[in-house]
Amino acid sequence: SSNTDFLLAIENLTVSFDGFKAVDDLTLYVDKGELRVIIGPNGAGKTTVLDLISGKTKASAGSIKYNNIELTRMREHQIVRAGVIRKFQTPSIYDNLTVFENLEISYPWGRTVWGSLSFNRTEEVVERIKEVAGEVFLGDMLDIPGEMLSHGQKQWLEIGMLLIQNTELIMLDEPVAGMTPKERDATAALLKKISKKQSVIIIEHDMDFVEKIASRVTVLHLGKIIKEGTMTEVRNDPRVQEVYLGH
Ligand code: ADP
Repeated sequence: SSNTDFLLAIENLTVSFDGFKAVDDLTLYVDKGELRVIIGPNGAGKTTVLDLISGKTKASAGSIKYNNIELTRMREHQIVRAGVIRKFQTPSIYDNLTVFENLEISYPWGRTVWGSLSFNRTEEVVERIKEVAGEVFLGDMLDIPGEMLSHGQKQWLEIGMLLIQNTELIMLDEPVAGMTPKERDATAALLKKISKKQSVIIIEHDMDFVEKIASRVTVLHLGKIIKEGTMTEVRNDPRVQEVYLGH
């Protein structure tokens, strides 16, 4: 298959900070409907890769194509509008808004002919909000303010705020950080379900969690890919053990 078949095609991507290549000639393809996990030790360049895709950091060389559209010269808000959205490690929900309202403000509202957002709480919108709340285990908590949620529930709400936008790709930076083992299991199931409809890119540290979602794993080290494969293949790779899993 040609490179134009991929949802996301990253080629020869490089960025330097003070002469240090945080991402070094990286080539990575993500298929439609794929759940891809990026792992690697601290400083490997994982967050920088997401920063480059979302336009927060500008590449010094290389290309990032999303549905064959070049992202590297676009601004952050244009990239979001193109459908590339992201969750950061720390949940950023609105504490004083309810679960329902947090999802409502994330709904992909259309614009009126005058360019302002048209909020129209139709039955269809309400149903969609309830559906997404249910998917992220918050169906019984629609009227609860964000600040009353547990840390894990806040993480789920934020995933819901991405889901409701109905994009082809979502990117998550350590989505299970701070979650209980039970919440991690539920999240693994949730992510597998999501990836049946959308492509998902996850940065993760928790190996047991990565094993559970059983997807393709890319291992980064010093800005380069040192291994790609299943979690079992990755665990058994001597180079990976040396730089990462061994210690
Ligand atoms: P990871 O997410 O894998 O822990 P990062 O992408 O955060 O790694 O960082 C990769 C390297 O790039 C690190 O050495 C980090 O210090 C450096 N780095 C990241 N962002 C910047 C920045 N804005 N300015 C300078 N150095 C940076």
